[in-house]
Amino acid sequence: MKIGILALQGDFAEHNAILEHLGVETRQVRLPAQLESLDGLIIPGGESTTIGKLAEDYQLIEPIRKFSKTGAIWGTCAGAILLSKDARRTQPLLGLMDITVERNAFGRQVESFEIDIEVPVLQEFYPQNGQTFHAVFIRAPLIESVDGTARILASLPDGRIIAAQQRKLLATSFHPELTPDDRFHRYFLTLVSK
Ligand code: GLN
Repeated sequence: MKIGILALQGDFAEHNAILEHLGVETRQVRLPAQLESLDGLIIPGGESTTIGKLAEDYQLIEPIRKFSKTGAIWGTCAGAILLSKDARRTQPLLGLMDITVERNAFGRQVESFEIDIEVPVLQEFYPQNGQTFHAVFIRAPLIESVDGTARILASLPDGRIIAAQQRKLLATSFHPELTPDDRFHRYFLTLVSK
């Protein structure tokens, strides 16, 4: 199994470190040819407009869309925005998931926060690993709505959606790569091997 990490901007190194710790072969992706022979791709957090524009400049948008037909893709924070079909403003998007996101829904950088959340699918897959997941939100987006065949994976206590899945596509508005809990990465690997 080989997982690519889109390494145009943002916290790709943190994803890389967790995957290597899990013994997974990784490759940083900056060019279309580097998508070849990958089984999964992670789009990290960062700044979604910047990542989108760079992906356009490097002619990665169509190749990533094509990759999604067979490979699994996970977007964290800015990566989740890129996966969405609608971010309510004009910016380059992959438009692969039937989710609408609201960027910076919690306000500015200083309004970043951390909270323990319930993620039923993780509790189901890893019942021995404790219950809640410590979620780090940094100028995070909200998943405003989930349509089509996409489904909700996690919500805040007030019901606002923060994680969704559609087939082998995964979107989290927080950053599992910034905590030592590797359950989300392991869950993604189960989608990769599907
Ligand atoms: N605020 C960023 C955006 O809208 C996302 C922040 C992040 O990835 N931590 O693109």
